[in-house]
Amino acid sequence: MTASPAPRIVVALDGPASSGKSSVGIAVAQRLGLRFLDTGLIYRALTALALREGVAPEDQPAVIALIPRFELADDGSGRLARVLVDGADETDAVRSHEVDAAVSAVARQPDVRAALLGLQRRIAAPGGIVMAGRDIGTVVLPAAGLKVYLDASVGERAGRRIRERGLDPQGDEAAAVREQLRTRDAADSGRAVAPLRAAEDAVVLRTDGMGLDEVVDLVAGLVVAAETGGAATAPGVAGEPVAGANRPAAGTPSRSRPSPAPAAREPLPRVLEVAMRLDNQQTMLVRMVARIAQWIGHALAAISIEGLENIPRRGAVIIAANHASNADPIYAGAWVSDALRTRRLHWLGKRELFFWPVFGWICALGGIHPVDRSSADIEAYRLASRILERGYVLMIFPEGTRSPTGALQEAKDGVAQLALRSGAQIVPMAINGSDLVWPKGRRFPAPFPRRRVRVRIGQPFLVADVVPPATDRRAAKTAATTAIMGRIAELLEPRQRGAYAGAVRASATEGTARDPA
Ligand code: C5P
Repeated sequence: MTASPAPRIVVALDGPASSGKSSVGIAVAQRLGLRFLDTGLIYRALTALALREGVAPEDQPAVIALIPRFELADDGSGRLARVLVDGADETDAVRSHEVDAAVSAVARQPDVRAALLGLQRRIAAPGGIVMAGRDIGTVVLPAAGLKVYLDASVGERAGRRIRERGLDPQGDEAAAVREQLRTRDAADSGRAVAPLRAAEDAVVLRTDGMGLDEVVDLVAGLVVAAETGGAATAPGVAGEPVAGANRPAAGTPSRSRPSPAPAAREPLPRVLEVAMRLDNQQTMLVRMVARIAQWIGHALAAISIEGLENIPRRGAVIIAANHASNADPIYAGAWVSDALRTRRLHWLGKRELFFWPVFGWICALGGIHPVDRSSADIEAYRLASRILERGYVLMIFPEGTRSPTGALQEAKDGVAQLALRSGAQIVPMAINGSDLVWPKGRRFPAPFPRRRVRVRIGQPFLVADVVPPATDRRAAKTAATTAIMGRIAELLEPRQRGAYAGAVRASATEGTARDPA
């Protein structure tokens, strides 16, 4: 007997009107071979029927009696996007202005919502579906394998609608679009039953300023990570990797989920607030900590630093380094912080670091910003974008996690995405030999026999200058990742070039690369 394959994931995709749920949901479902249902269609179908039959929304038994008269049909591409009323296709009718205006009144009737629960759950039961709506993660499918809540400001959502319809942004019609969105938001969020809100365990994704492709990439990454139990694409953080959506497979009841690390939910200790600032001012205290870190660095190995002068003095900068040791934050940060003088070095780090007494405070002081593992991808990306938008310096380990062998591993594409979007200058940094001083898997560093750590900082560059023009977004990201990692590899000893040995430009290494004797 062969075992039947495990059911595929159920994804709850919630958010306000025009937050992109349908476009994102359809694209993600298509890319990953999942079904798609926009549950708004159900409320619209019922509203259209009620209007036609002259049934008042408040007459709940009469509205409920209409439910068996409509059904959702596949449009041929895995989308339950056709509405059949009494067997006839009424898909266009459910998108009419009349339905737009009346649907919220039907959707706020508690008995009607309860009567529609069974239908929605039956559709989701076989798994393998992205279900979009307002209450999917909170009420309809509380045990969904992944919950994503798409959000965006009214201005952003209205702007998308206005552009879609080709309206004059200053005109009356555009003003009406904004007003209608506000009204629908208020109706959907303010109703007593199943109000619009993000589930506690949802990944909240605020999409202001992001393109559709970008959101699709992020959500698809989360789905893949949730389905495989792996890590989603994170830009790479200081300390341990930030695991992505760490959720069980579809159908697992929510009560049996592993609870998030306590630190993920607890508020951060208040004492940290003094040190934790998203600004660009390096204080005396930071300089002192950097000095202490330098002493520790010297105590652990014979250290040499080359190329500090390559770090641009102005504008947004990403310093991208390889990561093979717990000692890397010292080698990557202590001397760079000094060289930046008044500018502050920023990093992202797992939230748990901040709960260690004293150490947490040093992390905050050292410019590390906490990232919650349960929504790591999105949160890390957003924080990193904010740091770069403000023109600050961000240190990233693009591999996300320490290499177990000391050689470069495949990088996450978060760094490329940040580089492409922010236009920041990229400074490649190679930390040679730290893996021998404190290899992954060792609890303590091994200062004897005394090793050499050689930190080499390369020339800054813009990814726009190395990514061929007119490549699509995915190809651009791959090209940017390879370029960034290739530049790091060029500064590494051959034994540490690992996955990017092939990306080293011949001209860059002539006479420079050699393994230490
Ligand atoms: O998403 P769409 O705009 O088509 O949804 C129409 C309306 O249906 C929403 O404004 C909301 O009132 C209702 N709805 C709901 N719960 C859902 C999906 C839609 O109340 N899960």
